Amino acid sequence: MNKPPIYLFGGTFNPPHQGHINLLLALQVQYHIDLITLLPNAISPLKLDKPPIANHHRINMLKLCISDYPQLCIDDFELHQTPPSYTVNTLKHFAQKHQVFFIIGYDSYLNLPKWYQLETILDLCHLIVLPRSSSNHNLYDLPKHIVQNTITQKDGPIIYETGRITCVEIPKINVSSTECRADLQNLSRESQLIIPSVLNYIREHNLYKD
Ligand code: ATP
Repeated sequence: MNKPPIYLFGGTFNPPHQGHINLLLALQVQYHIDLITLLPNAISPLKLDKPPIANHHRINMLKLCISDYPQLCIDDFELHQTPPSYTVNTLKHFAQKHQVFFIIGYDSYLNLPKWYQLETILDLCHLIVLPRSSSNHNLYDLPKHIVQNTITQKDGPIIYETGRITCVEIPKINVSSTECRADLQNLSRESQLIIPSVLNYIREHNLYKD
């Protein structure tokens, strides 16, 4: 029996920014994807030195970001898991009922060799890789077993069951949460990187002050 597809986009969203949303909207149009699920992470095992803002604030900011886009939704599954919450466990959960497509940025792609149980991850899903301007490494710097699965796709759908890594061709957007946090601490500058309703929320709740 064919399972229905699900497109998951995991992130710390600390805070969510224009890049997250605009990239997903571009991906949906180009690859005919009806719905993308944003999946806020608990503290990522790879980012333990950067504790994110409280979960409920990240969820509220995400809700503001997607309020105009019925083609985007949020699932808080990972926020209810016992830490450390690994992607492989999340994928096992969603793969029970879905064919899973897991969307990551190119910087995360370069980190794949560090991911816990990568082989199992590739058995459970396809990875869709978004281009990212800050990353200028060579695709072929990665270990062979990863590179052999990569394809560049101009059009969906992907015909293999799982395990393909697709580097999609959509325009790059040069924004990061790190820059947003820096902008928020620089009071003389109005951040252009954050969606205005999120910026209001951040101010109302006095977030990212230090
Ligand atoms: P930080 O600057 O704190 O590392 P970030 O901007 O990378 O944060 P995350 O919430 O960690 O934001 O990102 C979630 C996912 O989105 C990751 O897979 C990341 O690679 C991807 N991503 C974020 N911003 C971009 C961007 N501008 N272009 C492509 N991918 C992006």
